[in-house]
Amino acid sequence: MAKKRDYYEVLGLDKSATAEDIKKAYRRLAKESHPDLHPNDKSAEARFREVNEANEVLSDPQKRAAYDQFGMDGPPQMGGFGGFGGFEAGGFGGFDSIFDQLFGGGARTAQQRRNAPMRGRDIQVNLRITFEEAAFGASKSIDFMRAELCDTCHGTGGKDGSEPVTCATCGGSGQIRSGSGFMVTVRTCTTCGGSGQTIKDPCTTCQGSGRVRRKRTASFTIPPGADDGQVFVMSGQGEPGQNRGPNGDLLIALTVRPHKLFRREGTTLYLEMPISFTQAALGATLEVPTLKSTVSHRIPEGTQDGALFRIRNEGIQQLHGSTRGDLVVRVRVEIPKKLSDKQKELLRAFDQASTGKEYENRKGFLDKVKELFNA
Ligand SMILES: [Zn+2]
Ligand SMILES: [Zn+2]
Repeated sequence: MAKKRDYYEVLGLDKSATAEDIKKAYRRLAKESHPDLHPNDKSAEARFREVNEANEVLSDPQKRAAYDQFGMDGPPQMGGFGGFGGFEAGGFGGFDSIFDQLFGGGARTAQQRRNAPMRGRDIQVNLRITFEEAAFGASKSIDFMRAELCDTCHGTGGKDGSEPVTCATCGGSGQIRSGSGFMVTVRTCTTCGGSGQTIKDPCTTCQGSGRVRRKRTASFTIPPGADDGQVFVMSGQGEPGQNRGPNGDLLIALTVRPHKLFRREGTTLYLEMPISFTQAALGATLEVPTLKSTVSHRIPEGTQDGALFRIRNEGIQQLHGSTRGDLVVRVRVEIPKKLSDKQKELLRAFDQASTGKEYENRKGFLDKVKELFNA
């Protein structure tokens, strides 16, 4: 079963990977899982985000060092990698900006990009659930922090909702040109930071940013059959876009706690069950635990240690499907470590009654040893 996705694991690397290794792995995986190649495939989209999140952390030496030291939980004061208040992993400015990163930006200038509608950031929250909740589904409330448009100024950043005005320094271009002829230099306007607009009188609620952080609660229904490491997307529940771009998404990454008895692979449930050596030798009806109750299962005489039994339809329900997987039971024959004198006596009597033919493997083995020395 996949643990909570380790960032190195996501990129198929180990901790000794160089910056160049990370770059290469990221480019390859981001191209492979790019949503343009898999339209309407939520799992590819989730994978794409996962790859981006891993890259965002591992490609930054500082974040990588923190991740190496503290793991997925992040430095204590940062509140974790995936969660709010962390490194805002998983948040990125839409697929366009990723493509720019991958393939070198093209002809678009920073200025053009700044004023273009931009999709809001995605917010990723990690949700820890029990094995049973993953198997059978559950309803959950998820608290998360979200930057939202400021109510006071309606996101303009100006006092009483006043709109930003054209920057007087650059005339709205965001750039300052100087020189003439062949010697023209262009630099970003420092007054407006290149946006071409300034706020005359900033809103006091948001200090002119147009945004405030709020705690929100989302209701999320875990579908039966969900699994560890899966990411579910609540569309449009992320942060608002810029320049009237669409909202980002809320990404819910599942971490499923291990079970005391069971483990699972996909829809198949696995159980190791100790049985006594007399049960194994004589056959027995076992009361096999399932996730919900128990089922009776008959094992035959002469059951061997490690034998597997398949109990149909007692596994995990298929995600978004109607079929159920099987429960696979591996029996482990337990040899008692402490026997009473009476028990020992009975076993010696049992041995006396043995002809040696009872032990097929042992007989075969002894025959081979005999051949070896008589050859
Ligand atoms: Zn405001
Ligand atoms: Zn300006």
